Amino acid sequence: GLLAQYGYNKQSDIGTGSYSRVWLATSRNHKKLVAIKQIDRRPNSEYLKRFLPRELDLVLHLNHQHVIRVYQTFRTTTYVCMVQEYAPGGDLLQKILSSPHQRLHEGDAKFLFRQLIEGIRYLQSIHVLHRDIKCENLFLDGYGNLKIGDFGFARFLNDGEDTKTSCGSRPYAAFEIMTGQSYSSNAVDIYSAGVALYIMLTGMMPFNDKKKDKHQAIHDRRYCNIYFPQTTVQKHAKELIMAMLTSDPAKRIRTHEIIEHSWLKDMPYQFL
Ligand code: ADP
Ligand code: MG
Repeated sequence: GLLAQYGYNKQSDIGTGSYSRVWLATSRNHKKLVAIKQIDRRPNSEYLKRFLPRELDLVLHLNHQHVIRVYQTFRTTTYVCMVQEYAPGGDLLQKILSSPHQRLHEGDAKFLFRQLIEGIRYLQSIHVLHRDIKCENLFLDGYGNLKIGDFGFARFLNDGEDTKTSCGSRPYAAFEIMTGQSYSSNAVDIYSAGVALYIMLTGMMPFNDKKKDKHQAIHDRRYCNIYFPQTTVQKHAKELIMAMLTSDPAKRIRTHEIIEHSWLKDMPYQFL
């Protein structure tokens, strides 16, 4: 098969995305496990024309402990393949759903959230917007460390540039994306990371959009109309989430401020 030609032995099917199949494989040269994302090039979709070329251009540049590494890309007439670091711990949504009460302990959430912010800060330093931060795209390695993956909607955006592209997933979408405004910073990723933090701590979605029309969804985001269960979200965590879900991107908390936030400052057991 195709993968064998490039030196990989297919082991099993580990995932299906909207545009891709992902295979677990071993590399014959390095004797190591990799996850190979295989994308069918034949359908004539917006993703293939517009987003995939960016993803391919971008992923080979990524080099950080909290971002999934991509070792190699190759293409044939029918497929594009990305050979990636394998994340044996699965994704964060699976972890949350399989936890007692379907939420994380505060200490675990703090540990993983800090790693997410470090990953986002790295992406910011190389001028990358991810634009699809959500629990399904946050992977866990064999030690339980978080790695940001799925750069299907990502792009480079230099200082002074802006864009209006609406992308990502509705429940995680920043206010400025929902309202179709142009945006120019990684504040969109901070917003989505705030949604992810809320889900980690409560097991619920901050904005219950399913039952609501777009108008109501926008209203809830504009006024940051969120319910917090008293027992699972303490004061500092609540403050941080509210600061990340601030509707005005210019007033939204920034990565370096998040790192300094009181909720992350008191680390109960990170260093055990
Ligand atoms: P899509 O863009 O189609 O959503 P993803 O990159 O998110 O594709 O991959 C789809 C699924 O494949 C993921 O949700 C996950 O279950 C699995 N997967 C993807 N990459 C990896 C990886 N590096 N390690 C382990 N599983 C992965
Ligand atoms: Mg995905």
